[in-house]
Amino acid sequence: MNVLETITRLRVELNQHNYNYYTLDNPTISDYDFDIKLKELQELEAKHPEFFDENSPTLRVGGTITKNFETVMHEYRMYSLDNSYSKEDLQDWEIRCKKIVGDVAIQYTCELKYDGASISITYENGLLKRAVTRGDGFQGDDVTNNIKTIKAVPIKLKGDYPEKFDIRGEIVLPFAGFEKMNQDLIEIGETPYSNPRNTASGSLKLQDSAEVAKRPLDCLLYSIIGNNLDLNTQDEALQKARDWGFKVPNQSKLAKNLEEVFQFIDYWDVHRHDLPYETDGVVVKVNLIQYQNELDYTAKSPRWAMAYKFKSEQVSTILNSISYQVGRTGAITPVANLEPVQLAGTIVKRASLHNADQIEKLDVRLHDTVFVEKGGEIIPKIIAVDLTQRKPNSEPTKYITNCPECNTELVRIEGEANHYCPNFYGCPPQIIGRIQHYISRKAMDIEGLGGETVALLFNAGLVSNYADLYELQKEQIIPLERMAEKSAENLVKGVQDSKNVPFERVLYALGIRYVGETVAKKLAKHYKNIDAIAKASLMDLVLVDEIGEKIAQSVVMFFENQENRLIIERLKNYGVQLEINAENDTSVSDKLKGKIFVVSGVFEIYSRDDLKKAIEANGGKVGSSISSKTDYVIAGDNMGPSKLEKANKLNVSIINEFQFNDLLNG
Ligand code: AMP
Ligand code: ZN
Repeated sequence: MNVLETITRLRVELNQHNYNYYTLDNPTISDYDFDIKLKELQELEAKHPEFFDENSPTLRVGGTITKNFETVMHEYRMYSLDNSYSKEDLQDWEIRCKKIVGDVAIQYTCELKYDGASISITYENGLLKRAVTRGDGFQGDDVTNNIKTIKAVPIKLKGDYPEKFDIRGEIVLPFAGFEKMNQDLIEIGETPYSNPRNTASGSLKLQDSAEVAKRPLDCLLYSIIGNNLDLNTQDEALQKARDWGFKVPNQSKLAKNLEEVFQFIDYWDVHRHDLPYETDGVVVKVNLIQYQNELDYTAKSPRWAMAYKFKSEQVSTILNSISYQVGRTGAITPVANLEPVQLAGTIVKRASLHNADQIEKLDVRLHDTVFVEKGGEIIPKIIAVDLTQRKPNSEPTKYITNCPECNTELVRIEGEANHYCPNFYGCPPQIIGRIQHYISRKAMDIEGLGGETVALLFNAGLVSNYADLYELQKEQIIPLERMAEKSAENLVKGVQDSKNVPFERVLYALGIRYVGETVAKKLAKHYKNIDAIAKASLMDLVLVDEIGEKIAQSVVMFFENQENRLIIERLKNYGVQLEINAENDTSVSDKLKGKIFVVSGVFEIYSRDDLKKAIEANGGKVGSSISSKTDYVIAGDNMGPSKLEKANKLNVSIINEFQFNDLLNG
């Protein structure tokens, strides 16, 4: 088999696996084997730029940067939908339809109304050509590179598709993925996203498509548009779209009459809470395309479709009190304690209030009657106060000024939403939270020790930081609640075993604010050991790829602290891994040793990631912005003019990817 054949075979295979996994939910290969094949293809493509294909599955990982999204006209306008809120509304609508198409039996397709960001994707000769946001309905932004990273969007179609058409759908962020993203943010002390819909639509406009690729977005399709499509009904269109490889949720249903439409609505009004993503209604469409054509459009929306909006589930109840929780990083979260009330099938006792601004905006006061709503999040939120029920002597809520756990005065950093308790070393939930983070699965993964036991150990005065764990003796642990000889032994053994955990995970485990898993990896790789990181200046840190000022500042602050330095010294003495293990080091040469590179623009033979990998693997460093310390700028297409100017001004060598290749091989 020649190279092109191998490349083609891998592309076909990987596309099929993506389809099985993301569209059919039915993978037939392990993630590991998938990655191996993907790597193989990536390597072949890098070696053979002549076989580049803008539709290769390797582009799913992203890596292109879009500074300004190009505005494009929609060939077919993207209309809104008329809304209805009751069955009577729908009956009236049917009467209006019959005035136009005549007194005939009308069939409808019922689909769920997915709550995300709408997208219009153009396919030509079975290939994804362009994806455009809705914009104002007439023109939107070209977000093709970002959309290509969403694995459920087919890049190449199957079967008997029309030569050219647009397909419309909704980009959604399923709850599970959304929760996971927020979990990761909370873990590093960042503010979580407020809801899946905004996060999905924000994702489409991210400049770095590699960032989009990391987000667990999905794309659900619902409409095909074009000339001479040879489609007779909406139902048939949905089925065809499925056949061509699109993800069209199969909850959609053909209803013979309005009665069946109502049954669909009643069913999903209850069961929509079981779906993996957010829906806010049902879209009812006249099934026959011929009728659709006769009904046509108003200035704003099709006359042949109607959205039926579910009533959002809301109840009113009384706010009994507000309590304040202190997180691992000291962030304070206010929580509303409510008079228990039934909402969407569960009893609600608590609701989130987010932060001081939110409390002020809602102007919620103790003993107010409040409206509570269940959105995508697990914990419901207060959306408004029923002012008609307010007690005459009520007073505005005063946000706490001191930590509820240690009474230290709270601080609020300019530009941040949350208050913090600055008593890093004396505030119990912060101490316990830090140790819990240290032992957690993605960090040191200490077997035989759980979060509750950490609290027990702390309360018994046995540990007050994670270094203390390494001093624990079996005899000290046994007397604790629910502990026995065996469990105490396991705990001590688990702690000792953690000395084998590699440096990058130890660095993450330290719980430095904003240093999540990815940042920890970057820092470990760049500096190789803890002492180098501790010594690094702010200036030096921000030159590391992907390390921004906020992270750099937090790292510097962490190591400036005497107490942290002592703890780290102790960890070192216990034998915890505080430097990169030579065996795990992936450098292949020292050729670029000491050289600092900045990568800018779009490349032909390398992806940006590959370039960065190659630099680091050969001893160089990747900086994020051009400074006098930069040795080389590797410039691709579309390098920004301001960068060019800066590089010239500072006399930094500008090379292209081929010259970089020579540098490596020469
Ligand atoms: P609205 O924004 O309320 O005018 O509703 C129109 C939007 O609903 C469209 O732009 C689509 O993005 C979205 N939508 C979600 N699901 C569907 C569906 N099954 N059929 C048509 N539109 C849908
Ligand atoms: Zn405190």
